[in-house]
Amino acid sequence: MRLSQYFLPLIKETPKEAEIVSHRLMLRAGMIKQHSAGIYSWLPIGLKVLNKISAIVREEQNRAGAVEILMPTLQPADLWRESGRYDAYGAEMLRIKDRHDRDMLYGPTNEEMVTDIFRSYVRSYKSLPLNLYHLQWKFRDEVRPRFGVMRGREFLMKDAYSFDIDEAGARASYNRMFVAYLRTFERMGLKSIPMQADTGPIGGDLSHEFIILADTGESEVFCDKKFLDMKAPPADVDFSDDEAMADIVKQYTTPYARTEEMHDAEMFSKIDSGSQVTARGIEVGHIFYFGTKYSEAMNANVMGPDGKEHPVHMGSYGIGPSRLVAAIIEASHDENGIRWPKGVAPFDVGIINMKPGNEGCDEVCNKFYKALTATGQDVLYDDTDKRAGEKFAMMDLVGLPIQIIAGPRGVGEGTVEIKNRNDGSRETLSVDEALNKLTSLT
Ligand code: ATP
Ligand code: MG
Repeated sequence: MRLSQYFLPLIKETPKEAEIVSHRLMLRAGMIKQHSAGIYSWLPIGLKVLNKISAIVREEQNRAGAVEILMPTLQPADLWRESGRYDAYGAEMLRIKDRHDRDMLYGPTNEEMVTDIFRSYVRSYKSLPLNLYHLQWKFRDEVRPRFGVMRGREFLMKDAYSFDIDEAGARASYNRMFVAYLRTFERMGLKSIPMQADTGPIGGDLSHEFIILADTGESEVFCDKKFLDMKAPPADVDFSDDEAMADIVKQYTTPYARTEEMHDAEMFSKIDSGSQVTARGIEVGHIFYFGTKYSEAMNANVMGPDGKEHPVHMGSYGIGPSRLVAAIIEASHDENGIRWPKGVAPFDVGIINMKPGNEGCDEVCNKFYKALTATGQDVLYDDTDKRAGEKFAMMDLVGLPIQIIAGPRGVGEGTVEIKNRNDGSRETLSVDEALNKLTSLT
């Protein structure tokens, strides 16, 4: 993409309304625009990041065996009357009437709708386990929408729903999602810690919130330092091996990790004092098993091996891609702007032409632009006639991980400068060396 033909509306002044750094940077870098409390448009680079995050989420859901569908944002109230949640949900639900005076709602979540899909088609335990997921916008009329897209009213969610014949099967499904989540967040450069969450009336231990540590997090969290050194399982981990999955979950649920709601000061005090971590955290994912709550209320039964009908056992698994955009920035920025981890940056490489109109500079920049684009890299080429200082500041603010700087003097000597945004290193290379190096990155 050539900057002269792009839409990148940067804001110079630090926006007053933004209380936390990710919100400030997202506004300044022209990623989002607010229309009303908690309701945003995604501008080009914001959308690019959101899509890259969503792509990682999809890949890891698919790898774990979940199957993608797409359910609508608007739902009929009648489905929610079956589960009893139409009245129970409260003021967070946006209720709407259509022209025929029928009650509708903008979905805050999709348990009822996915249960309706399930009961329409699935009859036998032989079709199980099944896990259906989608990425869709949700609306929750939050009391205090704030911190930009971190706590929006309209926000993107990946929600998956698992169906199993019994609790043992549901636990295996839960474990697969647990492992998929560890991988998903690690691929975004985040250290996520699964923290035991409230299971409510269902009881048991099958509910975890995935938390990343950040000073601006909304909840206080307590965990064992061990988590900070743990690595997520590799890409070839075998999701069909129930025992291997259970072992990984065990490993990640044995050290202490709880949010303030579930905190047990006495248990925490038993950890070696040098290993006690008290911090703030951001919830980026939440998984839980809720048994037959919806299947019993909505008659979603399947034939078991015993020839009898059984209400299906369900779990649900949420991730907030739009919240993640902000969470990644909270975890990774400096005084100049955003430092995107590899894989989620809006562009992989930036090219700065220090003197557009200079034949040598134009030629070298075009050469890089063509060669890198041809290898499938996402390139932003600053071909505008802005001042050099402004160009450098823009690239750092927007956070492009690799920047190629081509000026008349260097180009005259056949060289360009390559800057690495994340470690701050710079090197001067011949044009060919630089081309070789950067085209072999993919
Ligand atoms: P919170 O406690 O932060 O309100 P929640 O428990 O209501 O979250 P879930 O219903 O479990 O959230 O939703 C799954 C995921 O959706 C969350 O882990 C989070 O990443 C995302 N999410 C929830 N509410 C919002 C919101 N208002 N804005 C952006 N993302 C959200
Ligand atoms: Mg909430």
